[in-house]
Amino acid sequence: MADYTPIRRVAIFGGTHGNELSGVYLVKHWLANGSEIQRHGLEVTPYITNPRALLSRSRYIDCDLNRAFTAEHLSKTETENIPYEVSRAQEINSLFGPKGSNEAYDLIFDLHNTTSNMGSTLVLEDSKDDFTIQMFHYIKSALAPEPCPVFLIEHPNLKYATTRSVAKHPVGVEVGPQPNGVVRADILDKMRKIIKHALDFVQLFNEGREFPPCNIEVYKIMERVNYPTDEDGEITAIVHQCVQDQDWQQLNPGDPVFVTFDGETITYEGDCPVYPTFVNEAAYYEQKHAFTKTLKVPLAGKRLQVAAP
Ligand SMILES: [Zn+2]
Repeated sequence: MADYTPIRRVAIFGGTHGNELSGVYLVKHWLANGSEIQRHGLEVTPYITNPRALLSRSRYIDCDLNRAFTAEHLSKTETENIPYEVSRAQEINSLFGPKGSNEAYDLIFDLHNTTSNMGSTLVLEDSKDDFTIQMFHYIKSALAPEPCPVFLIEHPNLKYATTRSVAKHPVGVEVGPQPNGVVRADILDKMRKIIKHALDFVQLFNEGREFPPCNIEVYKIMERVNYPTDEDGEITAIVHQCVQDQDWQQLNPGDPVFVTFDGETITYEGDCPVYPTFVNEAAYYEQKHAFTKTLKVPLAGKRLQVAAP
């Protein structure tokens, strides 16, 4: 069943990770001058989610804000001696949620950058969210022939409790490659175009435009692949040059995937072709994740039209 109620409240988050600067600067710009993101009949709120991480130009202060929106954290009642990002999660949940409730914001865009060569990526949390699938179909068509991959993070144990998950329709925007702590004009422009087309879609939807059933191709998360390590946990091989910058490109069993510091090639030993993404992402060295394996699958979006008032 598609969602037929109009979209009224939209938020655009920047700075969930304080060193991903395209979203930070766009949101700061829109806080100063929001004319570009205003649409008739819509309330659009730009918001900086992790101000202390921004000041310290780091991903986070105590823990990753984009993993902090669990039921356990959001229901904590003590306010002292809790990690900074958990207190931010509670604040954001009270402003834009509560998560899972009728009062929650309709739609939240959370703007991220990656050091990986992922281009203009849209992140989908729920394969049954027809409204968001239709929106992604619209954005992909508007950006074509520029690719706009959709990353589906639905998974029994790999899905995480994102900042945007307080909204009824959470949308992750992940644009790269951009180094941490740097803002590049080409990357900022890609992010800005995604938001423009997304808001145009919402306005058309609210005005009664009918969106017929659609199909998009999505990259569904399968598994995170770690770097090879020694018994002390030290990385012993790095991403092979054949895979570097090849996000969303097919990787076949037997293809080179890592190279050791002695120059020895390690091949991919899977049983089917996969599509790596977040290849050599700087933030994931902490967990020793070299890349994320995805499978390319079709996804259907149901017909969508707002109910007549
Ligand atoms: Zn991020």
